[in-house]
Amino acid sequence: MESLEAELARARDLDVSDLADAIESIGFECTRCGACCKANEDSEGPRGDGEAVGGDPHTATVFPDEVRELQATGDYDWRDVARPMPYGLSEGPDGPEGETFEWALQTDACGDCTFYEESEGDGRCTVHDDRPLICATYPFSVALGGTSQPMGEAVDEAGMVRAHECEGLGRDISRADAEDLARALKERAIRELAEAIGVRDNYEPVETGSDEVVVYDSEGAKTPDGASR
Ligand code: SF4
Repeated sequence: MESLEAELARARDLDVSDLADAIESIGFECTRCGACCKANEDSEGPRGDGEAVGGDPHTATVFPDEVRELQATGDYDWRDVARPMPYGLSEGPDGPEGETFEWALQTDACGDCTFYEESEGDGRCTVHDDRPLICATYPFSVALGGTSQPMGEAVDEAGMVRAHECEGLGRDISRADAEDLARALKERAIRELAEAIGVRDNYEPVETGSDEVVVYDSEGAKTPDGASR
C-alpha cells in the first residue's frame, strides 16, 4: 500500500465530476429501508429457519469532530453519541476491554444507531442534516488504501467508486444529487486519511488496567466518555 500521505494526496486530487459520473453509472436512490442504520440481522437462528437471533450491533465510523457536532444537536454527552469501535476489544467479565483506534456511532438496546427512529415501518434519521459523512455517502466508498469501508460487501465498482450492498443501488440519480454525493465522498476520503495520519502521529501508549478501554484517535488516548487519558 502507498503511504497514508500519498493516499491523502490522491484523495485531494479526486475529481468530483469523475466521481459523480461513476455514481450516476451505478445509480442510487435511498429507499428509506433503514438497513444501513440498524443492527445487522442477517444471522439465522440455530434451526436455520431464517429467524433472526439478533445480529451484530450497527457499526459506523464517526470522527471526533463529528461526535462533537452531534453532541451539539441535543446537548448530548459523548457517550450518548459514540462508543469505542468494538474491533480489537475483547469481552471481559465487566464488559469490553482493550484498545481501539476509532469511534462508532452509539447504538440502542436493539443494536440500531441511537439516532434511528421507526414508526409504522418508516425509518428516519433524527439528525439527518448533521449526519456523519459515512452516512451521507452510504452505500459508496472510494478505492483508496487507508479509507474505511461501510458495512456490507462491495458489490459494484466504477472508476474510483465502490458500491456496497444496498437495495437502493441501480436506481436513477439526478446529476445534482450525484455531484452532492461525490463531493461528500471526496471530503470523507480526505477526512479519513487525515484522521488515520493523526492516529499514527499522536499514538503514545498509555498504561491501562486489564478491565479498561482506551481509544487512540487523532487527538490522542481517550476514555470511552471522550476524555483525554
Ligand atoms: S446517524 Fe442517521 S443516517 Fe447515520 S446511521 Fe444513525 S440514523 Fe442512520
